[in-house]
Amino acid sequence: MNIRQLFQQHLAQTSPAPVGLHIVRAKGNYLFDDTGKQYLDLIGGISVCNLGHSRPEIIEAIAKQCEAYMHIMVYGELIQTPQVAYASALAAKLPASLNSVYFTNSGAEATEGAIKLARRLTCRPHIIACNNSYHGSTTGALAVMGDEYWRNAFRPLMPGVSHLDFNSSELIDNIDETTACVILESVQAEAGIIAPEKKWIQAVKKKCEEKGALLIVDEIQFGFGRTGKLWGFEHFEIEPDILLLGKALGGGMPLGAFISSHERMQSLTSNPVLGHITTFGGHPVSCAAGLAAFNLLLEEQVIAKVAQKEELFLSLLKHPAIKDVRSKGLLIAVQLDSAETVQTVLNRCLAEGVFSDWFLFAPDCIRIAPPLTITEAEIRQACSILLSSLS
Ligand code: PLP
Repeated sequence: MNIRQLFQQHLAQTSPAPVGLHIVRAKGNYLFDDTGKQYLDLIGGISVCNLGHSRPEIIEAIAKQCEAYMHIMVYGELIQTPQVAYASALAAKLPASLNSVYFTNSGAEATEGAIKLARRLTCRPHIIACNNSYHGSTTGALAVMGDEYWRNAFRPLMPGVSHLDFNSSELIDNIDETTACVILESVQAEAGIIAPEKKWIQAVKKKCEEKGALLIVDEIQFGFGRTGKLWGFEHFEIEPDILLLGKALGGGMPLGAFISSHERMQSLTSNPVLGHITTFGGHPVSCAAGLAAFNLLLEEQVIAKVAQKEELFLSLLKHPAIKDVRSKGLLIAVQLDSAETVQTVLNRCLAEGVFSDWFLFAPDCIRIAPPLTITEAEIRQACSILLSSLS
């Protein structure tokens, strides 16, 4: 059997039609397949590779940490320099109330930990989530996911969750003394890029404060500069009570985090002790890679150029077949007339050497979420191929 057949046979499949390219190398903003063909990466591993692929500084940090040690103990018992250094670096760039980091393996686990923390702190039964939200695919995260098609086959789900519309006054009206938390994305990604109205999200935060509920903000997809600011919530001048990070957090290695105040996090140390356990969460190699990527992101002022690159995309993405373009920084949804058209265009782009994707809850939209390091020339090339694929 060749590698494609082995892939189909022995790797559990979830997609009825996987892209199925055999990628053997990735460098900068490009992927390379086993025939040597290169693909401009317009999705960065779904908002992970903010600095492109195979940055030497990140590889060096990984190699150095592997030489020192890899796994040595489950989370939270031994002092591991990369964990402490990265948590401190994150805290230095977050509001003072977000100064305690619990590192997980993934975004979904960060969601799980945050829900547990909110329940533990408030002892309340209800959770409010948004329609069209995505917070991960594990069972707790699935229960707060805002789309019935993706949830339904896995019932019964965690009880106590209400789903209400993002940007709706109904959501605010439903926050009461029984609400443990409201969980929402700073910008809805899988819905095809829906930004919150500033007044709305500020009102959600205010109502949470009044009723003693916690606001969990999921920046797993939008954190680390993708919106043009380091954190998406900065656009709306709110402070989450619990912040969720993942994806770009690990600099290309698996890492997630839920972050809150030291005081709140202390609740996980008693009744029960070890209130959240992970063997591999905060793996030292992932933390070393993440810290190296975080330092590069800040030192090279990558974020300062995001708005300009977004503008360039928007100025070029003009075509009669494009129904709408929604964006927040370098996450752009290009809406076409149907999911079928999107698939046709994606295939044409792939043939022309541009790799892109669609959105879970907006399959009629093409996803553009390139490494933030994409150059002006690459943006022009990508848009030219995209537009010719539409014709
Ligand atoms: N939250 C958001 C907004 C996401 O986009 C994702 C993943 O796409 C997750 C949570 C889950 O992260 P992971 O796939 O690392 O579990």
